[in-house]
Amino acid sequence: MVNHKIQEAEQNLLHIYNRFPVTLDHGEGMYLYDTDGKQYLDFAAGIGVTGLGYGNVELNEALKAQIDKLCHTSNLYYHENCGKAAKALASACGMDKVFFTNSGAEAVEGALKAARKYAWTKQSGRYEIIAMEHAFHGRTVGAVSVTGHAEYREPFEPLFPGVRFAVYNDLDSVKALVNEKTCAIILEPVQGEGGIRPASREFMEGIRNLCDAQDILMICDEIQCGCGRTGTMFAWQGYGVKPDILTMAKAIGNGIPVGAFAVTEKVAESSLKPGDHGTTYGGNPLACMAVGKVMEIFEKEQIVEHVKQVSPYLIQRLDELVKRLDCVVERRGKGLMQGLVVTRPFAEIHQKALEEGLLVISAEGNVVRLLPPLIVEEKHIDEMIEKLEKALTF
Ligand SMILES: *Cc1c(COP(=O)(O)O)cnc(C)c1O
Repeated sequence: MVNHKIQEAEQNLLHIYNRFPVTLDHGEGMYLYDTDGKQYLDFAAGIGVTGLGYGNVELNEALKAQIDKLCHTSNLYYHENCGKAAKALASACGMDKVFFTNSGAEAVEGALKAARKYAWTKQSGRYEIIAMEHAFHGRTVGAVSVTGHAEYREPFEPLFPGVRFAVYNDLDSVKALVNEKTCAIILEPVQGEGGIRPASREFMEGIRNLCDAQDILMICDEIQCGCGRTGTMFAWQGYGVKPDILTMAKAIGNGIPVGAFAVTEKVAESSLKPGDHGTTYGGNPLACMAVGKVMEIFEKEQIVEHVKQVSPYLIQRLDELVKRLDCVVERRGKGLMQGLVVTRPFAEIHQKALEEGLLVISAEGNVVRLLPPLIVEEKHIDEMIEKLEKALTF
């Protein structure tokens, strides 16, 4: 399908994204509208970004007021929003200290630097990072270095040295790579781009034990699976396995570009110090207003409680599709982070879903990825199933 508006726009945009043939205009709650006024039920939320949906009045009013007051101070001057957002985020994610970034990839970069600096401070001689096959951690060079898809890495090699890849959910494969040079193990508690694969409890616990035994740092990337998505505020809390470093982004700003990494007191004491790291925009008053407000709204509106209540219904309706349709072979996921493994080409399903007015995305090629705004209700799930079934069976 040729979309002339997109063709025109791309005259001056580097052609990097294979954009869908829809030009979005505005959003309201669970719905997005294109420039022709067509309505789409949103089961993608960007890519798990707009957890609170669209047009949240309280959030938008706070952001508008902040723009009128002050958007930038550089980090040479303290702004109250920054401390408030860090306090709210640290409390939500159960960590001690927070550093704000502008994106997820930057949060991963910071986490890797924090881990290397920790080993350097301890003079342990450790520098190797163990990452997981099928992992996705972002597009900057450091983040690509730990991304578990060879095709994302190879064009940019040589990358950040000392990275080894283990098989996700296979503790023995991790053990086989651990040695006296291992500095950190990085993983997503639920792999997103890698096809919506939740870690097993044994895997998370096993990694924690390996790390504890040898003073290796455990880094959890919760950029996609964090912020209420899986039915706990952060996914690690659902496993009861706390990382030493946690990366966040996507939903913590509900669309305002902001990420963060958080560390425990133990890491903070022996890691990045003034001069080691920084960012011009990171932690600016506008981004921090977004994070502070999002955390406040999550608490006030009991978003996590809502995810816990509504996700069994989504799972039930998706499991019915697996039973009913030959082209749907498996459902995987946790909470409102769900994937359907399909045997038909995603491009066809997607095209039909768009026609039906439904936004979904793919993961790892043959997985229909469902990441609705967390404010989704049963009636939206019913509407999605009806549209998706049409898209799967046309
Ligand atoms: C999206 C994502 C990133 C990268 O975040 P950006 O904001 O796009 O840089 C990193 N890790 C995971 C798990 C992600 O889903």
